[in-house]
Formats: sequence, structure tokens, C-alpha cells
Amino acid sequence: MPPVRKVVEGAPASEIPSVDRLLHTRPFAALLAQHGRTRVTALLREHLEEVRRAARAGRLEAATLADGALAAALAARLTEAVRPPLRAVFNLTGTVLHTNLGRALLPEEAVGAVTRALTAPVNLEFDLESGGRGERDSLLEPLLCELTGAQAATVVNNNAAAVLLLLAALAPRREVLVSRGELIEIGGSFRLPDIMRRAGARLVEVGTTNRTHLKDYVEALGPRSALLLKVHTSNYAISGFTASVPLEKLVKLGRARGVPVAVDLGSGSLVDLGRWQLPREPTVREALAAGADLVTFSGDKLLGGPQAGLIVGRADLIDRLRKDPLKRALRVSKLTVAALEAVLALYRAPEFLAERLPTLRLLTRPPGEIEAQAVRLQPLVQRVLGDSYEVAEVPLASQIGSGALPVDQLPSHGLAIRAARGSRGALGRLEAALRALPRPVLGRLKDKALWLDMRCLECAEEAELVGQLDKLRLISPGAPA
Ligand SMILES: *Cc1c(COP(=O)(O)O)cnc(C)c1O
Repeated sequence: MPPVRKVVEGAPASEIPSVDRLLHTRPFAALLAQHGRTRVTALLREHLEEVRRAARAGRLEAATLADGALAAALAARLTEAVRPPLRAVFNLTGTVLHTNLGRALLPEEAVGAVTRALTAPVNLEFDLESGGRGERDSLLEPLLCELTGAQAATVVNNNAAAVLLLLAALAPRREVLVSRGELIEIGGSFRLPDIMRRAGARLVEVGTTNRTHLKDYVEALGPRSALLLKVHTSNYAISGFTASVPLEKLVKLGRARGVPVAVDLGSGSLVDLGRWQLPREPTVREALAAGADLVTFSGDKLLGGPQAGLIVGRADLIDRLRKDPLKRALRVSKLTVAALEAVLALYRAPEFLAERLPTLRLLTRPPGEIEAQAVRLQPLVQRVLGDSYEVAEVPLASQIGSGALPVDQLPSHGLAIRAARGSRGALGRLEAALRALPRPVLGRLKDKALWLDMRCLECAEEAELVGQLDKLRLISPGAPA
């Protein structure tokens, strides 16, 4: 029997087993079967290198060199390495259409359509009637026209792309008139003047920041004017001494001078949200009915679909957009076509929309249901956090997000978590610990409290959130990380 060596100074590097020997041991067989030799060998080399460094520093415990311990350490490494970087989170920020969290959640119908389009060949650009080449726009165009009253429609990668295409195709080296009050920047560096420059169009600013009148447009119009562009100021509101020109008047002017009028609605909506007692947002149909020649809007904002830029309006103008080479560069994939078609189809039965379309379902959740949820969660969260934190059930105001209706807020409920007096940095540690959960929980830090809004926690997901609370690892101050 070999003498039992007592580790005092740490195990020496010479005791570290070789990669080759380890790979032939029983604990490693399962890892090899699951992850393959290439991956296991690479990560094992990395791991043993770290072990060797620890040994040189005299920080190595003999127990960590056992085959089983090394296999367990490697299993943890492999799990971490295969975890996809894009992960599901809990959005308790109170912002329903959160751009950084992927905006709209899609309905089952869209998921099914995408799965089919991914796993079987599809008639994406194949005309099943004639047997000839088809056009991917033609799969969405009839439905978009039906829902908006437009003559024609086309779809690109997102609304920023829609605006870019519109400017590049209709106003190259010519002038586009925009009110100074509508020269917007959308989060993520979408600035209208920059897009305009890249599209090769010349921006002509009209009026002032707070007030623009019809006569300002009249004076700015000239022989080089190609387009009148109205932009829905979706992410801010100007209040006080303001004036802007209604679309109808702009249309009248455009018609008289032979200059088309385009509207970037941003979020836009296909239905009147007033139907569900939500704040009203201009609808695409209204903009077209008011005479807009083209309207652009996003697929993943209030529409509740996949990321896409939708352009609807006059057939001759849509045709010019289709013929522009940029259209090819900005085209959508079959995934988008499949998901968007499925979402648009839901709009044919608006009476079921609030049930079937997740975005609308979240926006219209009864405040009583959200409150009951917060009441249920308060004691559970308080128990997990202990007396270093104070958890209160509170009324909150959710936002629609993504620039839609920036001022209006929706009554909601949630938890306000404050650190007990004297524990500095405790709130930041809690926020980080929630982010480190298997499915990260994201709230909002503000005014020395962490706010968790329950609006976007659908009841079906509550158990998953509660189930992982016991994994919360709060590092107390002074404790080693
Ligand atoms: C959101 C928005 C855009 C950009 O749309 P994306 O789909 O995010 O590219 C453009 N214009 C307005 C007015 C917007 O609100």
C-alpha cells in the first residue's frame, strides 16, 4: 500500500495526470460520447494548464487531481462552453417592446410556420400556378393590401432599411423635405440625416424644432424636390407651443406640385388600439386614407411580428423600390416571410388578437391579474432574500417601448426591492445575482430600488421564475467571490 501523502504546501505539478491517460478512464467515457474527442481534448488541455499553474503557485489540492474530480470540472467547463450566447431571459423591466431584449414575442402560429419553412423546401420564389419564377413579395402583398387598403406592398429587413430604400430609390441626388421637428434619432444610431446622406438624397430642413407650418413646406419646395417625408416622432413628444402640418394638408400640397408624400410611421399599427382601451397610435390604413403615397413601419414593434420593414402604398412607387438593387441587398429571408405571414393572418380576426398575439396580450393584461401575481411573489422573494432586503408589492407603470407612444404608460404592478439600511452595494449585488440565474431576471435599478414589473411575466412562466430563485447566489460583502 502506498503511503498516504499529506498535502501541506499543495500537490506538485508532477502529479498531474496526462491527457492521454485521462481520456481512457471511465469518468471521461461519458464526456467523450456526448461532446466528442476534439472538444473534450481541447478543453481538457486548457483545464490541465490551469491546474499546472495552480500547482506552480503552490495552490493545488491533491483531491482535485482525482479522475472523477477532473471529469466533473471538465463537465462544468463543457456545459459552460456549449451554452448558446443568445439566451431566454425574464423581462421584468416594465418595457414590453424592449429593443435590447428582442422586441415582439411571436405567436405559436408564427413558430409553426417558421419551422415548416426551415425544414422543408418552400415556394419562396416559385410560382406554383405558372411553374415559373416567383417573387417573394407576392407571398405577403395580398394580405398587407387587404389589411391596410394599399395598392401594393413590399418588405425589407427592418424599418430603417425601408426608409433607406425609399430615399435611395425615389430621391437620388434630389431633395427630400422634412420638418425640423421630425429629424429623429432612434436608439442604435438610426439618425434620419445620416440615413439621408447614405441614401444619396439631400435633406432640406423645414420649419423649426417646435413649429412647422404649411408655408414652410411651400417655400422649401423647388424643381429638385423629390419627396415630402413625414416622420412619426415616436420616441419623444414635443409639448407646449407647437405646430405641425397634418398629413392631409401635406398630401394636398404634394399632389398640387407632383411630389409624392411618404410617411415613416415607425411602429404604426394595423388596428385601432382604442378597441382595447390602449392609447391610440396612428394606423397604417389611416395614413393611406389620408393620401400618403407610401407608408413605412416596423414588423416587430406594435405589429407584434418578426423584425421587418414594411412599405405599403402606390403600385408605381413600390415597383420602383422593387427594381432598385438595394432591394435585393435588404431582402428578407424565408424565416421572416413565414413568420410575418402567420402574424398578419391573425389580424383577419381582430376579435381574437388580444388572446393570440403575445404583444397585444401583454399590453392588455388585466391590472388585477398582474397585481395578484405580484402579491403571490412578494413573500417568496422576501423569504429567499432574507432580512438584508425589503421586498414590497407596489403599483407600477409599464411602457409599450420601441418608441411607440412615448408618453403614455400602462398601469401595472410589481416588486420594489430595497437594501436594508447600512448594506452598501447590496442592491447592485442583487441585480447582478438575478442576471446570473440560469434564466436571467432583468429588472430596473432606479431611485435606490430594484423594480421588477410583472406585466411581461405570463402566468404560465411564473413557476419557472420561482423554481430558480433558490439558485440565487448573493455574495455578501467581504466574502470571497
Ligand atoms: C423604430 C423606428 C424606426 C426604425 O425601425 P427598425 O424596424 O427598428 O429599423 C424608424 N423610424 C421610426 C419613426 C421608428 O419609430
